[in-house]
Amino acid sequence: MRCALCGRKAEVKLVRYGTSVCRSCYPEFFRGRVEKTVERLRMFSKDDPVCVALSGGKDSLSLLHALHLLGYKAKAIFIDLGISGYSEGSRKVCEKLCSDLNVDLHVYELRRERGLTLSEVSRKVRRPPCSICGAVKRQATNRMARELGCTVLATGHNLDDEVAFLFSNLLNWNLNYLARQGPVSEAKFKMVKKVKPLCFLTDEEVRIYAEIVGLEVFEGRCPLEGKAPLHFYKRIWNELEGMRPDVKSSFYKGFLRKLKPLLSVDEGELRSCKICGEPTSRDVCSVCSAFMKV
Ligand code: SF4
Ligand code: ZN
Repeated sequence: MRCALCGRKAEVKLVRYGTSVCRSCYPEFFRGRVEKTVERLRMFSKDDPVCVALSGGKDSLSLLHALHLLGYKAKAIFIDLGISGYSEGSRKVCEKLCSDLNVDLHVYELRRERGLTLSEVSRKVRRPPCSICGAVKRQATNRMARELGCTVLATGHNLDDEVAFLFSNLLNWNLNYLARQGPVSEAKFKMVKKVKPLCFLTDEEVRIYAEIVGLEVFEGRCPLEGKAPLHFYKRIWNELEGMRPDVKSSFYKGFLRKLKPLLSVDEGELRSCKICGEPTSRDVCSVCSAFMKV
């Protein structure tokens, strides 16, 4: 089989697109898909300053790499949660890519900002780390993007992530989460616009990109990770995809087209947290509540 782009021997079979490309053309193919999503869903333009939230994993690093090479004005942020054996390694690969690309990396250190690391606060308030972590990351990335003058915050969620969240929200009939799920969340009261430019690319497609362009990624797992069912859901969807290529994409796109428009978000009125000033639907945001109990 020949590469659909240059005619040389094809090496990467793209079953769900009904085509194949060679390894040299694959990065161009991948970036073309990213650009198409950004443009079609009107995520941002080449003039908008975009903040990319890096985690050290292949997805966010590939996103920054692709956006930078496509000519978008990307800035990078990293949230250092102070998780021993995890945060240092993830931060190192983010610093390396940003230095290679000559992109500014802005780091939020939880201990410096809030006085404790994630492990410390979770132990002290006796709450599962992931429940505090999600709120910390959402708040910190939004604040950093806003303070850096970015109108948009981009994250590296891929199609497998989106399908697993969607599946989980459907299993639990979590209508409020379902209403909020999608590739674009518009800006509102102190919240910048949030976008997911990799949402139509599979985990495997991102992995191949990271490998071919030679990204150094952090492969370690967070030691605080509980038994999240999302990994199990991803395995189920990989099996389904094996039986019916493109089922993940059609499931996700079907949700965006058919179900999402029927749902309305019930978020309560947003206001400023009385302690930190960040947006919240309560008097005191969930991050301040957790750290106050310490
Ligand atoms: Fe945070 Fe939990 Fe992910 Fe660790 S596994 S980084 S604690 S959300
Ligand atoms: Zn607060």
